[in-house]
Amino acid sequence: MYFCLNKKCVMEQELYIYNSLTRKKEKFEAISPPFVGMYVCGPTVYGDAHLGHARPAISFDLVYRYLEHIGYKVRYVRNITDVGHLENDADEGEDKIAKKARLEKLEPMEIAQYYSNRYRDNMRQLNVKEPSIEPLASGHIIEQIEMVKKILDADFAYEVDGNIYFDVVKYNEKHHYGILSGRKIEEMLNTTRDNLQGQEKKRNPVDFALWKKADTNHIMRWTSPWGEGVPGWHMECSAMGTKYLGEEFDIHGGGMDLRFPHHEAEIAQSMAANNKQAVKYWMHNNMITINGQKMGKSLNNFITLDAFFKGNHPLLEKGYSPMTIRFFILQAHYRSTLDFSNEALNAAEKGLTRLSDAAKKLSQIQAGKTENTVGFDAIIARVYAAMNDDLNSPIAIAALFDAVKIINKIAEGKLVIGKEELERFTKFYPDFIQNILGLSETETTTVQDDKSLDKLMELIMAIRQQVRKNKDFETSDKIRDALQELNIIIKDTPNGSVWEKK
Ligand code: ZN
Repeated sequence: MYFCLNKKCVMEQELYIYNSLTRKKEKFEAISPPFVGMYVCGPTVYGDAHLGHARPAISFDLVYRYLEHIGYKVRYVRNITDVGHLENDADEGEDKIAKKARLEKLEPMEIAQYYSNRYRDNMRQLNVKEPSIEPLASGHIIEQIEMVKKILDADFAYEVDGNIYFDVVKYNEKHHYGILSGRKIEEMLNTTRDNLQGQEKKRNPVDFALWKKADTNHIMRWTSPWGEGVPGWHMECSAMGTKYLGEEFDIHGGGMDLRFPHHEAEIAQSMAANNKQAVKYWMHNNMITINGQKMGKSLNNFITLDAFFKGNHPLLEKGYSPMTIRFFILQAHYRSTLDFSNEALNAAEKGLTRLSDAAKKLSQIQAGKTENTVGFDAIIARVYAAMNDDLNSPIAIAALFDAVKIINKIAEGKLVIGKEELERFTKFYPDFIQNILGLSETETTTVQDDKSLDKLMELIMAIRQQVRKNKDFETSDKIRDALQELNIIIKDTPNGSVWEKK
């Protein structure tokens, strides 16, 4: 059944995914097939996206592309957090965006808009498909307030002086707080007991804010039944997930670091408001490490995606194309940690070239007369088996590299392939690389910046040619010398002028 690429055929294969909620691989069964609702926590937009942001975006892009490939219709919601994410991820501290706005003397929405745009640009470069809906937390304050009201009505929250807190202890008497992270409330109470400073308004240190009262110096604030304030960070995903995907939906994804408290709180909020387990499958990508330590803005050891593309960071030997970064991420399983190194990125760059070179060769291969198989069908089967085993992209890629060896042998005339097998594989191979792995061919060899340089040089060379035609050699030499300063060498030959980078 593996060679059928039409939707029905592939659907017959069973997809298994690891559910963080039950801690085991489970057969994927959509709540109402062929529709799938998927929610992934997006960025908090107060700084440039780094490699740690690329990983969830690319991991869930792969899930999105694969589900669509095997016939599902996916509504993919990935939010933008533009309000309510406090500095220490708990209930104290300043809002990350408001803080940046205060430091740079800008409107908070200017900060959010600027970094949202930059984030989207980076995602486009990485060939991450746009989600179906990209809601902003600030655009869903009403929905969040409504959900807080429901939780209050259900008696799982309480108000203290314009703040609303979720009553974790009370919730845990009826449901299980810690179901996702595996934490026990007794241990949480013990470890948080010492950090009560500034939290005396809460009944219990494990309680978390659903709504925070805005102080007089707070720039971001909205009116609510409890006075002016801002929603707690965890509220937005519960409210927006429910609004766009319903009270129960299929997949919720995010980085492993979001399991607690963010996702644990989301589960509790939805259960308290709707008395339902909102999410069927929880999926978490692992972290990117740098010398074994998590890469992150709060740890200040992050490298922005922009720096990766341009190569301007002390830890980078050179720039790496967006497709190299994408391939580097896909070469590890999403649930494994991925350690950054120039060595690994260089290997990814070479591997990617091998895959795309083979695609070119494959398109030129001629079929011969043979009864034997070259083994392509078995490779397709291995690729699907890997993908259906919790989206195991590294195993799928390893099978593709085996295909590269076969392609090279055929191209060298050492193997003969039959017409039908060649047709099947020619349909499969580039499609899988470009549409499932999302490795776009155009981006693999040229870095974006080089393309604009080519265009710019085309223009300069045309102007210089005109100048020379007018016998204005002074200006023509000036252009040549100025370019030389920029390490661009112009050579005038009898057939015209050419340029090259030094
Ligand atoms: Zn979230």
